[in-house]
Formats: sequence, C-alpha cells, structure tokens
Amino acid sequence: MPFAIHPFLETKRDGGVHSAEQIVLFVRALTAGDISRSQVAAWLAFAYVQGLNDAEKVALTHAMVDSGDRLDWQGLDGPFVDKHSTGGVGDKVSLILAPLLVLLGKRVPMVSGRGLGHTGGTLDKLEAIPGFRTDLPVSQLRGVLDDVGFFMNGQTGEVAPADRLLYALRNEICTVPSVALITASILSKKVAEGIDALVLDVKVGSGAFMKDLDQARALATSLVRTGQGCGVDTRALITDMSQPLGLTVGNALEVRESVEALKGGGPQDLFDLTVALAGDPRAADILRSGAAYDCFCRMVEAHGGDVGALERYESMAMGARITELVADRSGVVQQLDAMDIAMAAFGLGAGRERADEPIHPGVGLVLRKKRGDAVRVGEVLAEIHHDQRGLEQAQALTRRAYAIGEGSPQQVPLVIETVG
Ligand code: URA
Repeated sequence: MPFAIHPFLETKRDGGVHSAEQIVLFVRALTAGDISRSQVAAWLAFAYVQGLNDAEKVALTHAMVDSGDRLDWQGLDGPFVDKHSTGGVGDKVSLILAPLLVLLGKRVPMVSGRGLGHTGGTLDKLEAIPGFRTDLPVSQLRGVLDDVGFFMNGQTGEVAPADRLLYALRNEICTVPSVALITASILSKKVAEGIDALVLDVKVGSGAFMKDLDQARALATSLVRTGQGCGVDTRALITDMSQPLGLTVGNALEVRESVEALKGGGPQDLFDLTVALAGDPRAADILRSGAAYDCFCRMVEAHGGDVGALERYESMAMGARITELVADRSGVVQQLDAMDIAMAAFGLGAGRERADEPIHPGVGLVLRKKRGDAVRVGEVLAEIHHDQRGLEQAQALTRRAYAIGEGSPQQVPLVIETVG
C-alpha cells in the first residue's frame, strides 16, 4: 500500500506524535522518491517547529540507518566504541583519543568527515600526512580494525542516504538548527558504524555550533537519550569552545601537536580533554607514557601514510611561510575568540566552503598566548603560517581575537558538564 503522506504531514503540523511504523514508511518513501521535495520540506518545517519526542527520534534514527549500509564487525572482539565532536576550532582530540581507547582495550571503527565552514575535519588533518588514504574499502578496514585496533576513514558505501537527502533540504529551508533533526542526523551515521558505545563532545562557545549553554545542554541530553534508545551506550561532555583547543589551528600544525600529545606531551587543555573523553581512570597514565604514539603510527602505516613524515614537519607543511603577530600592549589575555581564529585559518586556506574545494595542509596558526597568559608589548602573540592568500585578513582577525586587559580573566572550565 502506498504511504499516505497527507495524514502524516497533518499529524506533525498539528503537534501530534508519529508512530515508529509511520516514520519508517516516511523514510522509505523519501529514499524511494515516492514523495515530493515540497512534502519532505513541509515535514521538516513542522518537525522543526513542533519537535520530536524521544521515541520519534529513536525511530527516525533507526529508519535513517536502515536506509543505507551498516558496518558489521561480527567475528571480531569488541567492545566497539567511537567519539563524535559537534565541531570546534583546533580540535584534534580524535587523533589522540582513538589510539588511547585501543590501549584501554576497545576497538574504534572511526568514520569521520571533512571540515566545512569554520570547523576543521579529522580527514583533512590526516590527509596532511603524505600518502594517508581516508578511502579504504570495508574489506581492508576490517583487517586494520583487527590488527591495529582502530581505523580513521571516510564514509564507505552508502551510509544513511536518507540523512544526506534530509540535510540538503534542511540547508535550503533553514531548518538545520533543530535539536531533534541534528540528533537523528548525527546518530544515524554513528549507529551505522556498528558501535556499542559512543562519547560525544558537545562544544559550546563562540567557535561552536551551539553558542550558549542551554542549547548545548538540550543537544547533549537529546543525543544521549536517543543514543541510549538506539542501544548504544552514549554519554556526552559539554566542553568550552570559547577559545581554540591546544595551541595550533590548521591541518599539518594540528597533526604536529597531536604527535606531541601522543608522545605524552602537548598542551594541558588537549591532554585534559582527551583524558576526560576516554572516561577511564587509567587514561592519564597511559597517555603520559607515550604508548599511544606507536599505536597511532601503526594506524598511519595501515592507511598508507608516511610515518617518517610525522617526525619531519616540513614534509607536511608544503612550503608555508611564517609571519609573527606581536602584542601592541602589555597585560593579560582576557579572551582569545575561537571564531575569529577559525576565520583567520579559513581565509589562509585551511578550510573550505564547499566539499570539493582544495585546502592547503600547511597553513594556520600557532597561538603563543592563550587566555590567562601575561604578555608584554612587542612579544609574539601568534605565528601565522601562510602561503599566497589571506595574510592581511588573518593578521586583522587574530589581533581582534586577542582581548588584552588588566587582571585575571574569568575562569571557564574546560569540561562544563557531563550528561549520561
Ligand atoms: N552535523 C550533522 O551530521 N548533522 C547535523 O544535522 C548537524 C551537524
């Protein structure tokens, strides 16, 4: 029997609740092309305004997973776990956390994305390593997961095609920022990885998708409840993204900083957040020991990457030059605006607007001062790593990002809340 779209639309228009069966039929009709784009757009607008309850979000997530391929690790020992961040600036945690989780006895089938807009993408960072392939086929990924304990790849096959269709329409009709729709969209792609557990890093602050704590809390709660409802042991940390994470922003620079962290060094905030996301009392000692670096190198090798390049930064930087930005007054850094720094890096060519645009792996920023640091006039605030474009704009944005004043700035905890 064909799906009756009109009663379905009327239900959500009038604030009603869909059954799981209705949602399955809707998603099937959507992927089969049996309903029109305007009908789908109308439902998205109704769902945006009226919301979806927990059962509807679980049903929508399952239906979106079922619209495509699902990874299956039968025959391998788990538990299979993954991490997802809602997107930040200088956020290279995945590169450090994944091998750390392996050393904690988990397997991590990590499927990541590229950066779009102001936030960086894990695949772009990894592709700064010469030879690194992010498009290994599933047959090979299984072997890497078995031998190394984790992989870091792009999407294989057709994962949640219903999400792709819905997301494109949401973009067109301004319904992206819906907690319910974001929840099903993120989780459908994670559930399709065949994982048992998921930790989410929900960022809040100027450099994040969610600008205030109430929004971040609503998203974190929705993701945790829906993830649990889908049978994945899900927890979320709400973390600060008012200033960039660590001291580097830009793909090769972030790989270099990740290598330091994997060897047991690197900036304190990066260490603290990685350990908090690992959620295991042994995590800090293991990370400090440097053992995660060897595990990371094995993964790089398995993906065809040049492990030696991790020790030769110049081979990843592709000839980028360095211009220093110095302080024009003395004082204490009160704020270092994550969005301004992200836009500076973006303008230098570290990010992209459209999925098919090239990026420059070597450009970005090294932040020599962060919130709370004292600075004297003439001291270097940041190094700008650049090529042909964007230097002047990056200088202006970086200068604006640094608010220098007197006294200690307000303390902002890195991990603001835990949900689940
Ligand atoms: N990221 C996603 O994958 N989906 C959304 O809807 C928003 C952010």
